[in-house]
Amino acid sequence: MNDSLKISQDVISAIKKVTKKDSAPLHEPTFDGNEWNYLKDCIDSTYVSSVGKFVDQFEADLVKYTKSKYAIATVNGTAALHIALKLVNIKKDDEVLIPSLSFVATANAVAYSNAIPHFIDSASNTLGIDPEKLNDYLITHTEQKSGFCINKATNRRIKAIIPMHTFGHPVELEPLIKLTKKFNIDIVEDAAESLGSFYKGKHTGTYGLVGTLSFNGNKIITTGGGGAILTNNKDIAVLAKHLTTTAKIKHQWEFIHDMVGYNYRMPNINAALGCSQLERINQKLKIKRDLFARYNEEFSKIDGIALFSEPKDAKSNYWLQTLVLDHRNIKIRDDILKATNEMNIQTRPIWKPLHQLEPFKNCPSMNVDNAISLYEKIINIPSSSNLI
Ligand SMILES: *Cc1c(COP(=O)(O)O)cnc(C)c1O
Repeated sequence: MNDSLKISQDVISAIKKVTKKDSAPLHEPTFDGNEWNYLKDCIDSTYVSSVGKFVDQFEADLVKYTKSKYAIATVNGTAALHIALKLVNIKKDDEVLIPSLSFVATANAVAYSNAIPHFIDSASNTLGIDPEKLNDYLITHTEQKSGFCINKATNRRIKAIIPMHTFGHPVELEPLIKLTKKFNIDIVEDAAESLGSFYKGKHTGTYGLVGTLSFNGNKIITTGGGGAILTNNKDIAVLAKHLTTTAKIKHQWEFIHDMVGYNYRMPNINAALGCSQLERINQKLKIKRDLFARYNEEFSKIDGIALFSEPKDAKSNYWLQTLVLDHRNIKIRDDILKATNEMNIQTRPIWKPLHQLEPFKNCPSMNVDNAISLYEKIINIPSSSNLI
């Protein structure tokens, strides 16, 4: 038996042993709380759409859970990111630093703002932005002009950075915050994957000026489709609500809109699901952590493969369990993906680095060798919170 076949079989056996299932999707939602009751309430009351008590309730529940001062529910996480960039005043031709290793939504939101993604490298210990490497890069490639951070090569302003907490694992926020203060760059946190993840005891998405969440069907909790904007700043919160609800001025009957607003609000039926899902987040988090422990026991027996564990100073939600192949095994990543998927054990590589995608290939980028290397090594394995 060749190496690739042997390792693929070991991976399949380990997953089957832990999950006690013959097949498993990468991530499916679980509905084991009040979902039916709340949905019925929406239908019985006719409030299924853009207003209703569950939207307000869900926002209040998010505030309570994340300890963000404000939360504004949106139609999805990408819309939340789009508005978040407006809230920090991203303008045409501003550059926004984002990890090359992220879901395409992060780069798309920058493009929607007519701004320019500027790709940066990721660290192996967090799978997110490498603050040390970024610091060195900014020292050599930028200069400060009247309090603005200017990219010397393009003469454009670097206005913001979007740290993203990959698969729920918090990035090193403390050194990153220090760096952004030094270089006058705003933080917009893409916490789409990290509801339930904490860095030094504080919820991810609450460190930056603005943070965003996603409740897409594959995330740790779901509203069907949905997202949220988090902020501790009252003015920003008020503007976020206004912009995501068509910028309508309150009036008994007139339609008056004082800005170009967006129809980005979360419908009540989606929020109803969210309220119910959030009630059970602690159970989901516990199962994810237990799943990690059981996978870890099995995968530690396999040579040349490691299960990724939460970084230091962080408590991760372990949204997606992650295998990291040893350097020697990079060449068999696709064989493992093929063998597992053929057995209906759904596995996936991490996203293709964004700087390599057609729409972004001409955008500025630092050396992102480590992101490329991580792309070659990473495989996500079945991670649903109903697996054990
Ligand atoms: C899921 C996700 C989003 C937002 O996605 P939506 O599907 O629009 O809710 C944004 N960024 C990252 C990194 C994500 O994983």
